[in-house]
Amino acid sequence: VDPEDSLVHALHRVTAETPDRTFLAYFDARLTYREMDTLSDSVAGHLAARGIVRGDRVAVMLQNSPHFVLAVLGAWKAGASVVPVNPMYKSAEVSHVLRDSEAAALICSDRAWQEYLRDTAAGTPVRVVLTASERDFQTRDDARVLAFERLAPAADADDLTAVARAGLPAPQDRTPASGDIALISYTSGTSGTPKGATNTHRNLMYNAERQRTSLGLPPAPVYFALAPLFHITGIVCQFGACLTSGGTLVLAYRFEAGVVLEAFAEHRPHYTVGPATAFMALAAHPSARPDHFSSFHVISSGGAPLPPALVESFRDRFGPYIRNGYGLTECTAPCASVPPGREAPVDPVSGTLAVGVPGPDTVVRIVGDDGREVPFGEPGEIVVSGPQVVPGYWRRPEATADTFPGGELRTGDIGFMDAQGWLYVVDRKKDMINASGFKVWPREVEDVLYTHPAVREAAVVGVPDGYRGETVKAFVSLRPGVRADPAELAAYCKERLAAYKYPRQVEILPELPKTASGKILRRELRSRTRDSQ
Ligand code: ATP
Repeated sequence: VDPEDSLVHALHRVTAETPDRTFLAYFDARLTYREMDTLSDSVAGHLAARGIVRGDRVAVMLQNSPHFVLAVLGAWKAGASVVPVNPMYKSAEVSHVLRDSEAAALICSDRAWQEYLRDTAAGTPVRVVLTASERDFQTRDDARVLAFERLAPAADADDLTAVARAGLPAPQDRTPASGDIALISYTSGTSGTPKGATNTHRNLMYNAERQRTSLGLPPAPVYFALAPLFHITGIVCQFGACLTSGGTLVLAYRFEAGVVLEAFAEHRPHYTVGPATAFMALAAHPSARPDHFSSFHVISSGGAPLPPALVESFRDRFGPYIRNGYGLTECTAPCASVPPGREAPVDPVSGTLAVGVPGPDTVVRIVGDDGREVPFGEPGEIVVSGPQVVPGYWRRPEATADTFPGGELRTGDIGFMDAQGWLYVVDRKKDMINASGFKVWPREVEDVLYTHPAVREAAVVGVPDGYRGETVKAFVSLRPGVRADPAELAAYCKERLAAYKYPRQVEILPELPKTASGKILRRELRSRTRDSQ
């Protein structure tokens, strides 16, 4: 495999060598490499016929189903960049992404289209719509996964499965080049409104290849997609690594512990990756037993702190050792991980588990406030350079210059390196809240609170939570003479934000603590919740 090419090249190679090998397993359905190659050609042909040209953006808003893979491969074969969108997003969140990326096409579920995305997409640059009936390919009726009926087709959208089965040829000369943008992945970076990190095909291939070569999996491994594919970790470590190794990717729509355990028993996966919360949920499920996990060669955790006690109790009960890994969207998922065969040390002072060691071509530096490197063991900001670091943010030269000075990624994470080269993440410089690996940016929640007529001041912080790691808490002061109760404010946010973002706790104060210059002291609010715990 040549890291200079793309996952489309990888698909062509595996299809040429082993066309009948199963590429996707989705409940009772199986799709071979040849089938997926042909079906995604037809999606590309359709997009091209609808006027999608090289470099256009195609937004893909789907759960872990064969449609997701078809949509992404089809868009890449049409020469487009894919903009993954979290299917939990509410209208305003989707609208920002569609406008900012200037997406020309949207591929989403038929239900979401009919329920709200049709209205959301109106007035955005989207002009081509493909909808997926998530009932397609789903031969097993499992209400835990999909509770809904097939919908009547919408007149204003084409059906993705029908388009894939139309047998159209892919457009000529559109195969991606390694420097082309494969994904525009929306993240809030160290601050501000969500911006798109531009993951190139080279970024993706590098990390997918690293996963393939460093994990020591058997030939044609079976990957289980525990992490969502709309998230960079899911795309790179599951879909990408599977394609470069000619393996099988097992999909289960979305995380549901009982369904996942059944799929482990049925498909016997060798590898998966997810946030710590997913492993807690699997361990807590009444049917979980060691043989569910006996096929795994490696299990990785990433995206959020991994409690050492979870690693130990998981190993004691089920066998596998959960390997920590650290990364960001801006470095195309992992940049440090625990090599197979080794175990991450725990820092005796902070009790933190090491996140791993940097990959071979990756340089991790720890820098102090003066921008100079600090000695081993001392904390500073984690700065990363390497072939997985993205060239920058989509159409944001200033944010790019701030976050990637000289091409290095300033992560906004605080960590240290020990003398053996293990990296530890201990804190964050950025205000981000990490709820089960889902990132919540206080600004976005505060902006919603400020649109409520009763709210005078709002500040949102993360508070410790045994299951999610952190959970969202809002502090609010009210306008004089206006009443509102915490439950009402929480419900107001829930209506407007993806479910993982709305504040689980709202506290009303007469006034929020501020600096002399009037800036709300988020840090003080945070320590206030810690003291009261
Ligand atoms: P990953 O590639 O590890 O899954 P991600 O894809 O979740 O990360 P983002 O959503 O951009 O990427 O979030 C990155 C942030 O998540 C990091 O800046 C860091 O604060 C946090 N993070 C990621 N991995 C770990 C880890 N192993 N331990 C602690 N925090 C982590």
